[in-house]
Amino acid sequence: MSFNIPASHPRALSLHYREKIVEGCKANVVAMAGLIAHGRGEAFDYLIEEKTQPFAVAAMEACVAAFLLAENPVISVNGNLAALCAEDTVELSRCLESKLEINLFYRTPDREKAIHGVLSNAGAQNILGVDARAAIPELESLRRSVDPEGILKADAVLVPLEDGDRTEALKKMGKLVAAIDLNPLSRTAQAADITIVDNVVRVMPALIKMTQRMSLLPENVLRRICKKYNNIRILKNAMKFIGKRLGKIGMKGTYIKY
Ligand code: ATP
Repeated sequence: MSFNIPASHPRALSLHYREKIVEGCKANVVAMAGLIAHGRGEAFDYLIEEKTQPFAVAAMEACVAAFLLAENPVISVNGNLAALCAEDTVELSRCLESKLEINLFYRTPDREKAIHGVLSNAGAQNILGVDARAAIPELESLRRSVDPEGILKADAVLVPLEDGDRTEALKKMGKLVAAIDLNPLSRTAQAADITIVDNVVRVMPALIKMTQRMSLLPENVLRRICKKYNNIRILKNAMKFIGKRLGKIGMKGTYIKY
């Protein structure tokens, strides 16, 4: 890492992940626009106290239940996810017996190759989405590319940090979409079947632990978890939490002495 972050810094962890994104950008893993997306995420993370809140736990449980029940689950990987938590993503795909597909908004062969390298180094064996040849209907140009063996035929797709258009298009294709998005107001958050309003760096390890525990549950219990889940309520809880927090934050300030 090029920038030495003192452990005593009150925002050391946040700076650590910011630095990972910058390094990812230099290595062509993260797109320039990925830096901006990360900044938007940081702002929303502040608003949820940079902690996993109960609305995220409930959504994660539903996500694991749905993915354990799915026949053809796929985890979609973009540059930010690869830069922030490649190892956990690969481990989660193993626990959930889910495929991994590189799915990029700003797709170039070089970025595909760079992300493929990061995932391989993290232990991934079978990585889809390089030279992706199938297309999501309704989307234009390179944004529509998907792998015929992956997202195209998946019944459930986990999309961390996805763009709203593509989430809506995946829904129209009849797929169950679980999103990880710190912004409960984004089109992705609003369109997904399950929205985990939390930071991917906390979500991925939590999903691994939950999968290890929940894979022992019988199918009827998993189905009950899915049936009871209500994404509108989860999004409302996330927004209520943010609203309350904004109301509670004390204003510290001084007056100008002149
Ligand atoms: P939409 O098209 O869905 O309305 P958008 O235009 O905000 O969303 P992007 O610019 O692709 O979409 O931003 C990606 C989203 O990812 C943002 O909503 C941001 O809050 C979220 N995000 C960024 N970093 C993280 C992170 N580390 N964990 C979870 N979510 C994140």
